[in-house]
Amino acid sequence: FLTVYSLSGSRGCRSLSRPLGRRQGMPWTGRQERTLIAVKPDGVQRRLVGQIIQRFEQRGFKLVGLKMVQASHGILSEHYGELRTKPFFQSLLTYMSSGPVVVMVWEGHNVVQASRKMVGQTNPAEAPAGTIRGDFSVHVSRNVVHASDSQEGAQKEIQLWFPAKDLLDWDCCDQIYTIEV
Ligand code: UDP
Ligand code: MG
Repeated sequence: FLTVYSLSGSRGCRSLSRPLGRRQGMPWTGRQERTLIAVKPDGVQRRLVGQIIQRFEQRGFKLVGLKMVQASHGILSEHYGELRTKPFFQSLLTYMSSGPVVVMVWEGHNVVQASRKMVGQTNPAEAPAGTIRGDFSVHVSRNVVHASDSQEGAQKEIQLWFPAKDLLDWDCCDQIYTIEV
């Protein structure tokens, strides 16, 4: 009991007694890695938003930003800028702007690499069962979800989709049980 009390007392789970989301000089939780995850229009239409969010929650990641948007060709062209010369670029933009997307920022240990693994290969035919694409999709052009592919890419995508003020820096009370701090 004493150990548990001292952990929760010193590590931020009494967050209601101080301003929410401020870590006030506690070195044990530096800001962790973040990544951009989006449920694409097919995922939204097929009512998969809840199941996709659940996977990231149950893995132990922390949601720090979330919104539903009808994405413009402008933001999508920038988001997929590296694919501009690909033959599927225009149809990708049409697909991605065909309905709302749910865009999220998830935070946690090794989240960029872990979430790419959770999402599975770009082509769902190659994505194993157990991955999001492997469980919910069959065709490369309708693969349900986006995940940043590197820490650098994640930073750019997060800045593109979210103003800094819309990302919340909050203490999640189970953190001492999901990573070693
Ligand atoms: N895409 C497509 N046809 C292809 C390859 C990609 O329609 O032959 C789409 C697909 O939606 C994919 C997106 O373009 O998710 C971005 O491609 P990328 O290679 O970055 O794959 P991802 O990072 O999404 O796995
Ligand atoms: Mg990509």
